[in-house]
Amino acid sequence: MEPVFGRVLIKLSGEALAGEQQTGIDPGMLGEVADQVAEIHGLGVQVALVLGGGNIFRGLKGSAAGMERPTADAMGMLATVINCLALEDALRQRGMGARTYSAMPVGAAARVYARREALESLEAGEVVLLAAGTGNPYFTTDTAAALRALELGAEVLVKATKVDGIYDSDPEQNPNATRFDRLTYSEILAQQLGVMDLTAVTLCRENGLPLQVCNLKVAGNIRRVMLGEDVGTRVMAEGSEQK
Ligand code: UDP
Repeated sequence: MEPVFGRVLIKLSGEALAGEQQTGIDPGMLGEVADQVAEIHGLGVQVALVLGGGNIFRGLKGSAAGMERPTADAMGMLATVINCLALEDALRQRGMGARTYSAMPVGAAARVYARREALESLEAGEVVLLAAGTGNPYFTTDTAAALRALELGAEVLVKATKVDGIYDSDPEQNPNATRFDRLTYSEILAQQLGVMDLTAVTLCRENGLPLQVCNLKVAGNIRRVMLGEDVGTRVMAEGSEQK
């Protein structure tokens, strides 16, 4: 089967790598994520990944505890570097080329992000891991994902999470919550649906980047998205053509 996308950027929250405790890195979860990436890499899709850091540290939590927000955010960004290095290792162990580019310099651990180098890696068939978010405090890794997807010419941004799409209310709290198959960014804004922060939604909307939200915990889901199957919720910018 042929993928309908040539290049994708996948956003994974830090929690995706955590075990039951929702903290730290669980080797089993890491392996499952790496297997899903391997599946789509095997289809010939160029894959870039943005990882969150919430399984290790979130800036807002630090600032709520009295830290200066920029310092706490720097810690959060460094947490994403740890996650990227862990996944890079798991991908390499599966025989893939994988390279981490960090928005914050981290010495010998990873290269500093440079758009052209990341593009060259993608074109050479390496999985590209984008660490340290945007490199700036007060942003999220969702915004970093939207930004890098645009910079690197990804055809779709995939947000793989623990729920199977966007709902009208939190499905973990409300058993009657209804899932949307299709949405526009304007509907997300109007209905205040909490899928990504406003900065990320606005970037996607203004630049016509489609978003697919799907459940990471269902094995094979990211592959299904790459093959054009209806999985989760698809968000389109108005006026843009459906792929
Ligand atoms: N962060 C930041 N700038 C960015 C991206 C992330 O300061 O461009 C920090 C912020 O403190 C955030 C933490 O890194 O809480 C981890 O990212 P995020 O909360 O988005 O991770 P996720 O919830 O996806 O695991």
